[in-house]
Amino acid sequence: MSVDRHIFQHDTTDTYDLYERKRGPWKSNEDIERYVPTHCCYCGVQCGMYLKVADNKVVGVEPRYDFPLNQGMLCPKGTTAYQTVNHPDRLTYPLMRRGGKDSPLERASWEEVMDTIVRRFRAIQQEHGKDAVAVYSGSSMTNEKCYLMGKFARVALETRHCDYNGRLCMSSATGANELALGIDRAANPVSDALHADVIFVIGANVGECFPIVTSWLWRARDRGTKLIVADPRQTPIARTADVFLPLRSGTDSALLNAMLNVIIREGMVDEEFIRARTNGWDEVREIALQYPPERVASICGLRPEAIVEAARLYGSAKAALIYTARGLEHQSKGVDNGVACANLALATGNFGRPGAGYMTLTGQGNGQGGREMGQKASQLPGERDIEDPEDRAYISEVWGIEERDLPHSGYPATLMIPAMLREEIRACFMICSNPMVSLPDQHTVERALRGLDLFVVCDFFLSETAELADIVLPGNVWAEDDGTTVSLEGRVIKYNKAVDPPGEARRDWEIVCDLARRLGKGQYFPYRSARDIFEEIRIATKGAKADYYGITYEKIDEQNGVFWPCTSEESPGTPRLYEERFGFPDGRARFVPVTYLPPAEEPDEIYPMVLTTGRVIYHYLSGNQTRRVPFLFEQAPCPWVELHEDMAKRLGITDGDWVTVRTRRGELTAPALVVRTIRPDTLFIPYHYGHRQAANQLTNPVLEPMMKIPEYKVCAAAISPATQPPEWADEFDLGVLDLARKRRRELPTAGAKQGPGVR
Ligand code: SF4
Repeated sequence: MSVDRHIFQHDTTDTYDLYERKRGPWKSNEDIERYVPTHCCYCGVQCGMYLKVADNKVVGVEPRYDFPLNQGMLCPKGTTAYQTVNHPDRLTYPLMRRGGKDSPLERASWEEVMDTIVRRFRAIQQEHGKDAVAVYSGSSMTNEKCYLMGKFARVALETRHCDYNGRLCMSSATGANELALGIDRAANPVSDALHADVIFVIGANVGECFPIVTSWLWRARDRGTKLIVADPRQTPIARTADVFLPLRSGTDSALLNAMLNVIIREGMVDEEFIRARTNGWDEVREIALQYPPERVASICGLRPEAIVEAARLYGSAKAALIYTARGLEHQSKGVDNGVACANLALATGNFGRPGAGYMTLTGQGNGQGGREMGQKASQLPGERDIEDPEDRAYISEVWGIEERDLPHSGYPATLMIPAMLREEIRACFMICSNPMVSLPDQHTVERALRGLDLFVVCDFFLSETAELADIVLPGNVWAEDDGTTVSLEGRVIKYNKAVDPPGEARRDWEIVCDLARRLGKGQYFPYRSARDIFEEIRIATKGAKADYYGITYEKIDEQNGVFWPCTSEESPGTPRLYEERFGFPDGRARFVPVTYLPPAEEPDEIYPMVLTTGRVIYHYLSGNQTRRVPFLFEQAPCPWVELHEDMAKRLGITDGDWVTVRTRRGELTAPALVVRTIRPDTLFIPYHYGHRQAANQLTNPVLEPMMKIPEYKVCAAAISPATQPPEWADEFDLGVLDLARKRRRELPTAGAKQGPGVR
């Protein structure tokens, strides 16, 4: 059945009525009592905004012109973010299952839920050991909360199993940064785009995932900067590229090695920089010489001339930037891909100068800060190493515990799932994470979470994951607390509280500190405000790579953010890294050899296509917030399957038909979106949806060996016309769906001709 027949049934009035009902009565600017300066809660750009407050409610938003990153702009997510604050779906009291796993979640008092959590955690730990309880944290939270979760796990619960959902996001870039450069942070401020001769965007859908960064790329282009884009889809930013390389998913390191090959053979290497500032060049040079473009072209599905053209453009730049994101990182070879980027930049001397560098664009609001604060399985605050004796001793002293009582490293988030299935982890405290949408192989994840003896979720909406919890604790949204985050460029900024949490909801840090007190560890958690926690972060990170010691709330306000490291109160911070030294004891960067290895699954006779997944501009991560905002929902109400018109014709599929995509993990039925802007051998499904709409029913859980990030971006798949619409189609306004699909089709990019470079 085609959804086309429903096109005339759509009436937007319903949606806007709903919007008005959910938002509350409209307020004119005269009614506004306060404009609270803060930042957008969504992506890593962290645009500056004012929240408009009237009658003690957040009723609107205005962009800040004074914040250098967005300068008066917001994307559709930012302009509607305030609608989550008073949303009728907010959790306003605790919930609990009183009659076992099959009983419903019922209203409970804070006393009842907190007593139950403490009693059950204690009993489970007594019977099965401290490590039987895990903490699964998030990165869309402030630094203060991220820090607190790491400390809560190690000090209050005394478990070694603490990790966070950033594991699923930028962890490949972390691995690459640590191996090659020694510091896990973007090398440059975003404003460096205006100093670059060439910007190479690989695996980053800038226009949809980091919309405001697009304006910086456009400004750079206006100044003459050349743009190279490599992506299996002709994303909006690829439309304006000077060289577009529509490479096959999962072949990034081959392409990067081939570009280095051309740069070596054509004498564009910066020998002086290599000699003075790096180690390990000879081996990388030898390997790169094994990747001539003629050979790599068939691996990547590109024309060799296009690879040569891109390499010449990059290699001849006086200053070049590389931007990457999840396209390159969500792979079982994600760290290799990141390292190959660093190799390219090091070989051409592109570090430590304006417009020269390599950076990952962080997808989560605090994707950068969340990976510095010590909530990672192997980390202590400040990017310290939990296995390093000096780091352990320092943090033990700051926390006031014996070093021998500080747990060692535990399981990364992706390995907690099998540990739950083995009943090694029997209980979990989860905050601001939605693995029932975000982890691959959803059926296995559901089995693991359902099997826990006690599953506690702290969140502000009842996410797909919270639906499975035994206890749900209502926490705060970003507008209801102070706290710092770090933008994708390494700038520490501050959210300011606009209103109090609704009903009985509490601030997350208050909930966690209360639990710690009830666990008998209150003396380690004496905080009375987010600022108190930040003051401890300053001490805990002093002398570490991510040194916050010189950052204060006041300095953040005065300077519009402070780039770490900032080692003293006199220091203004460090916008650009590696001007003199890299982050290793000898100050030199390390070339790391990369041999191209194919993705874990390649197309075969049964699964002849490549499936890749990603974001759309209207939604954020698991969609737990943005799917509840009427305007955003209306624009992208459900997943679709993007495929090339040639493939569609061959399979007898027309735009809007229901199609079924199958992989070795499961199947998903959704409407087809037929375009010219994707490789004919590739399918794309956005991943923001849950239950039977979850793209992660299909994705491959195979992990990158070092950082344990799943291979979301490549798996083998088959597509066919659906025998019938999915169950969810009955509950769905197909008119909304159809309009959204047609709008998407009408985007200039969707109708554009395939760019140069395709084989
Ligand atoms: Fe800015 Fe990102 Fe928020 Fe959009 S989602 S307004 S780009 S911070």
